[in-house]
Amino acid sequence: MVTPNSKWNWIPSNIWVGVGKMTTEDVTFPLAPIYKRKGITFHQALATELHPEGSAEIDQPFVTVRYTDPARLDQVDTITYDYLINATGPKLNFAATPGLGPDGNTVSVCTPGHAVQAAAALTDAIAKMRQGQRQRIVVGVGHGTCTCEGAAFEYTFNVEHEIRMAGVRDMADVTYVTNEYELGDFGVGGMVFTQNGFETTSKLWTESLFRERDVKAVVQAHVERIEPGVIHYEQLDGSKNELPFDFAMLLPPFRGVDLKAFDRAGEDITSEVFLASGFMKVDANYTAKPYGEWSAADWPRTYESSRFANIFAVGIAFAPPHQISQPRSSTNGTVITPSPPRTGMPSGVMGKTAALTIVDRITNGPTSRSREASMADMGAACVASSGMGLRRGTAASMTMYPVVPDYERFPATGRSTKDTFGEIGLAGHWIKYMLHVLFLYKAKARPFWYMIPE
Ligand SMILES: Cc1cc2nc3c(=O)[nH]c(=O)nc-3n(C[C@H](O)[C@H](O)[C@H](O)COP(=O)(O)OP(=O)(O)OC[C@H]3O[C@@H](n4cnc5c(N)ncnc54)[C@H](O)[C@@H]3O)c2cc1C
Repeated sequence: MVTPNSKWNWIPSNIWVGVGKMTTEDVTFPLAPIYKRKGITFHQALATELHPEGSAEIDQPFVTVRYTDPARLDQVDTITYDYLINATGPKLNFAATPGLGPDGNTVSVCTPGHAVQAAAALTDAIAKMRQGQRQRIVVGVGHGTCTCEGAAFEYTFNVEHEIRMAGVRDMADVTYVTNEYELGDFGVGGMVFTQNGFETTSKLWTESLFRERDVKAVVQAHVERIEPGVIHYEQLDGSKNELPFDFAMLLPPFRGVDLKAFDRAGEDITSEVFLASGFMKVDANYTAKPYGEWSAADWPRTYESSRFANIFAVGIAFAPPHQISQPRSSTNGTVITPSPPRTGMPSGVMGKTAALTIVDRITNGPTSRSREASMADMGAACVASSGMGLRRGTAASMTMYPVVPDYERFPATGRSTKDTFGEIGLAGHWIKYMLHVLFLYKAKARPFWYMIPE
């Protein structure tokens, strides 16, 4: 196991760290003791290069790593493998938008450290409101190609809840900025819910929530750059606009982590193994074609590298074949379309699928059939919860099946309306908190951890 962090992080609860309701200790734990207990060799290091054919000196596939462990800091080493699972997640690409992120002019909740800074900035803003200074609060995504709109949506309503609980809601203008074509798109092209026999679009459902909580929305926006106190953005109609702010949390766009790949002779084969976005090519159909011709069958099933049968890429690390939301560009040619989300539940299912394929190959031989789990045949749940405690929280909970619409199986909406629904209420908040407790338990590999599903 190779990872640059000494601690594991339950990322969804970073949202609660970002409003001061949890600490970094609540959402992280040290990895070394867990791996020691499970007999897994742990390298606290960053993988930098893949050598799937080995090299002149090393006759086996290997990965080059650079240690982040203080005891071996910056030492470079190689680790050989029979099978490799690339689950490196996203590179938080703040650099794509000048002025974006904690090194620029906005805060983030992507890591526990970022979330602590966000909570401090929010506390400052609340203190100013208490002194009678009106505050402009902006939450959203910081680039036209961002994904993870669900997390930005969840943070918006957590911030709104905190301000309300602090008794200063009337002193704040809260605005959500997004690259979605309309509210409720969430990077999955929106959903059609059934509730008590009635059909509702996720657009209507989400807009009602925004209206009820008096949160303004700027949709179809690509954030171009951020100067202190001012967000500059372009919209699909080509207009260039400014949004002043006192507090802004904008998520960065994601790209693949900077892994390189080399053949046995040492030639760079990165472009054969990864797309230009840095995500790994797997068993998907990457043929460029018009939106109307995209199909559920384009999506990968085994997550096996398109080039090497003993490498898998799961979660955010695999390259999706195309967007799920309809791609759109502004009249200036700027792409303003959410990238497909690869959220926690599908990421976990993909990881388990790749692991079981490897188990099969070890036990039954290298030609045994790969296990399959397509996002076009997989459901996902998203619980955007705000507030804390057993009585005061509330949540907007959504489930969809499948994540990638399949118009052959579900001609009307691409999804099963029976299994796609949204609910708002306290129960969803309890579920979110329960997930926090259960997934930390599972990640710590405590007794019967494997009974907790993805
Ligand atoms: C604020 C926030 C809230 C979210 N809330 C939800 C939610 O409520 N529900 C939900 O389903 N999803 C949520 N998500 C999305 C969810 O976190 C991701 O879908 C999930 O973490 C993806 O898993 P992954 O394994 O692909 O990547 P990650 O969880 O990011 O894991 C990647 C790991 O690889 C390591 N790594 C990176 N580079 C290298 C390298 N070169 N070598 C070795 N290791 C490397 C990283 O340090 C990290 O430990 C949220 C995301 C954010 C940012």
